[in-house]
Formats: sequence, C-alpha cells, structure tokens
Amino acid sequence: MTAPARTPADAPPAPGEVLLRAEGLAVHFPQRGGPPVRAVDGVDLEVRRGETLGLVGESGCGKSTLGLALLRLVEPTAGRIELDGTDVTALGRRELRGLRRRVAMVFQDPYASLDPRQTIGRIVAEPLEVHGLAPGRAARRARVDELLAMVGLDPSFRDRRPHELSGGQRQRVGVARALAGEPELIVCDEPISSLDVSIQAQVLNLLVRLQRELGLTYLFVAHDLAAVQHVSDRVAVMYLGRIVEVGDTARVTGDPAHPYTRALLSAVPVPDPPAERVRRRIVLSGDVPSPAAPPSGCRFRTRCPDAFEPCPHVDPALADLGGGHRAACHLHGVVGTPVDEAGAALLDDPA
Ligand code: SF4
Repeated sequence: MTAPARTPADAPPAPGEVLLRAEGLAVHFPQRGGPPVRAVDGVDLEVRRGETLGLVGESGCGKSTLGLALLRLVEPTAGRIELDGTDVTALGRRELRGLRRRVAMVFQDPYASLDPRQTIGRIVAEPLEVHGLAPGRAARRARVDELLAMVGLDPSFRDRRPHELSGGQRQRVGVARALAGEPELIVCDEPISSLDVSIQAQVLNLLVRLQRELGLTYLFVAHDLAAVQHVSDRVAVMYLGRIVEVGDTARVTGDPAHPYTRALLSAVPVPDPPAERVRRRIVLSGDVPSPAAPPSGCRFRTRCPDAFEPCPHVDPALADLGGGHRAACHLHGVVGTPVDEAGAALLDDPA
C-alpha cells in the first residue's frame, strides 16, 4: 500500500484542547470458571480536537475494545471517559444517543457492518432519523445525496444494496453513515485492513480530506503501523490491554522509547531500496500472553529482548520523557508499582 503522507497543505487545523479523555479505563470480560479477560486494563488516553491519534498494536491487544468502550458500545468495568468535560461513563440511555451523535465509528468490515437487506439510501438515512436531522423525506433524501457526494459516490448508489458495491465503495458508505450525525470525533477501527491494497490509499486519502474539510478528530485504530504513521499526528502503542508508548508521530517512530514499539517499527518496510536491504527486523519470541493472566511486572517482559532485573517485579508507569512523549519501560528509569517485595526493594534502592 502506498499510504498518503501528510503534507503541510493538507495538515489538519492545529490540534487544540483535549476533546476526549480516558482515565484508568478498564474493560474486563468475565469467563466461566476462570479469571476475567482483561481486554483493556488501566488506560489513560487523550484525544485532542482536530488531531488524528493512531492507536496501534497486534490483534488481541485490546485496541478495538478500547475504541468500542469510548463510545460505550461495550461497558467499561472501571475508569472514567470525558468528552469535552462531560463524564460519558455516567450518561443514561437517552443521553447516550447524544454521545453517539458526537462520536461516530467506522468499522473494519464494511460488509458486516452494513445491513445487506437495506438500500444504501436507507443505511445512510438511518442516523439522520435516529438523531432527528433533516426531517421530512425530501430533506432526508437531499442530505443522503450530499453525504454520498462527500465520500465520492454518485447519488445513483442510493438505490443499490451493499452486495452490489465493491469493498472500497462499501467502506465509503460506512464513512457517509458515520458522517450523517455530524460527529466531532470518529473512531476508525481498522478502516482499511479488509480492503485490497490498491484501494487502501484511496480510503485513507478520503479520510484525510474529510478531516480537513469538516474539522474532524480521528482515533485511528490499526495493527498496521505503516498506515498509522502516515495519517496520524500522534501515535499510541498498545500491548496486552495497556498503552506502552504515546507521543508525536515523528518522535515515536523516529526515536521509539519502548522495545515493543521498536519491534513493530522494524517490521515496516522502508521505501528506500538500499535502506530496506539493511533493515534489521526485530522478531519477538513467543506469543502474546493471555489477557486473562498477564505476566507480573511489565506485561511485555516475556517477549522483551531488553528485559532486566526489575521487569518481573515492578509494573512500569507511563513516564514522561518530555515533549508529550511517554513510555512505560524501566529502560528510562525504574518507576511504577511494585508487585512483590523484590520490586519494593528495587524502588527503595534503585542502585
Ligand atoms: Fe522490556 Fe523491561 Fe522495558 Fe518491559 S520494562 S519493555 S521488560 S525493558
């Protein structure tokens, strides 16, 4: 895929204040006869107005569950979510409708997320009806045509059904539907991973253009760091239910502070052939541990090539490295929560 790199001309408005904030967010799924699956397990995250925050990690790391929890499409077990200062976790059912208007979602698989029995016109019109927008048939029809045009589809698509469309066209419909409620924030959950490589850049370009034109804020969830780094102002890296590194994209990708980020980056092909020939790939050993039984101390320690003495004993905190760059790794100083006496002793006497 040739991802569209950001240029000064198409850069979004300068990111402003915090639009969405999660603090200590956890989503645990109970399991019969076993410990709960800790899909999201203590996440602090900020999304600033006008920016694209890329959320990246291997499948199963909890990033999609985190995206769903931010919209309360799954209920958080603990923690707090604020949208523009409003506590989203305390909203009742009726107030949640307002949240779903302000925060929309574009799903990974446009075929699965679009009702196959409905026409495209009905699919895009449904959020208009739910939120009481464009009342009356004529106004709704005109708004549907406008939304289709915004995503590059002809009004004639109104009468078709999802199976008559290509994957890229279906994802454009998914974007039109997300835009119908005039959201401020769109959570894009792996929006290009089910598409042909030749189509992926077109959909990314569409998202970038819409952000510029409508002043949108994106949380862009993906396992593909290459796509994330080209469209994101900041990147958050997630491993086993936690954010392990976050910061400006250039800083995180140019000078990664966490060994997991370094491993993810080493898998990204370099467009320069000589550099690509000497690219050193960091291959992580072992599988991702079960989120029902994460390792003690640093959750990455069972696969980390740099693990050392404090790692099993102290759960590393997300420490500030300056300039908004934060990483949870003892290589930058042993800071965190001791999980046993050895950890407590290490923090008492780090030397
Ligand atoms: Fe590796 Fe230790 Fe850093 Fe965890 S804290 S990433 S195990 S060096």
